Amino acid sequence: MPPFDEIPLIDNHVHPPFMAEAAAARPFLSYFSEADGEELIERHVPHSRFFRRALRELAELLDCEATAEAVQAARTALGPETLLRRCVEAGNIAAFVVDDGYPPPDQALSVADIAQAAGCAAARVLRLESLVASVATEHGGINGFDAALLAGLEQARRQGTKALKSIIAYRCGLAFSVPERETARAGLVEVHLRCRAGDARVTDARLLYHALALALDFAGEHGLPVQIHTGYGDRDLDLLGANPALLRGLLENPRFARVPVVLLHASYPYSRAASYLAAMYANVFVDFSEANPMLPAAELARVIDELLGLAPPTKVLYGSDAWGIPDWLYLGARHGRLALAAALDGDPDAAVIARRVLYDNAAELYGFRER
Ligand SMILES: [Zn+2]
Repeated sequence: MPPFDEIPLIDNHVHPPFMAEAAAARPFLSYFSEADGEELIERHVPHSRFFRRALRELAELLDCEATAEAVQAARTALGPETLLRRCVEAGNIAAFVVDDGYPPPDQALSVADIAQAAGCAAARVLRLESLVASVATEHGGINGFDAALLAGLEQARRQGTKALKSIIAYRCGLAFSVPERETARAGLVEVHLRCRAGDARVTDARLLYHALALALDFAGEHGLPVQIHTGYGDRDLDLLGANPALLRGLLENPRFARVPVVLLHASYPYSRAASYLAAMYANVFVDFSEANPMLPAAELARVIDELLGLAPPTKVLYGSDAWGIPDWLYLGARHGRLALAAALDGDPDAAVIARRVLYDNAAELYGFRER
């Protein structure tokens, strides 16, 4: 039995799988890379260590040959719901924290669908920038914008949203500071016009930082954690602006000190910076989604070792960033447990630390009931 398999895990960061038709419309290979260039996907991804390892492990799970064709056929025969259930059971996954801001909701299972198909708890995360885009389309005046943004947050909370998430790293970078009201107002005027013209990808730091400040206040008031994308991601990310050390303007502001902040993706390759921040600020946590399951075994173990270097084990969370296909859930559970075991090799507290990282920290943070 793989190490720590007996400890159920809570996946701190996942996205819904596509529904069958939408899943089939994308090349299978594209799920194993953050890149979107055809040449990269077709020519190089088949040779990536992540894809090769995934094929072997999925073939074992699905009891088929370890070729892309055989694995794909076995998956398609099951369909997304049954495959999801199998991945969850084989991965001993107890609960998910789901960002349904991607894929587009009309192409993917809902949070409720996921909970039902998987037979486990699923907490929804609201993606702030999606709400900002819809509110800025409706409101060109800052007072109306603020009221509608807060109303949207409150409605989501009442409907069961357990955390907020921000992707400012993708849009304008992590060097957050609270803008003057006049500055935010000027930002909104431009964003409103652009949204009206059909461009919903808001990148204006003046408005996004203003909205994030409001969202942080709201989260603090209601005890909701705020997840922040840090480190690597899709190609539209400027990696230099995704270093979590840039968050100093947020972390040093006493106004936000009681908001639990979760740095996503191990901030890779800035994992040591993330560990440092989690060690220095009581409200900062870090997960290792996306790095898990993408990075090869030794590199992932190194990253987890780095996270647990300065940050106490009460600050580090398991995650997979499963997206588009449920297979990632299983690959994450497997790679994540193996890498955690390698990182903790020889540590007499290994079992206690593993339970904290895999389950307890997320259960406390998002309010999942003990099992
Ligand atoms: Zn994600």
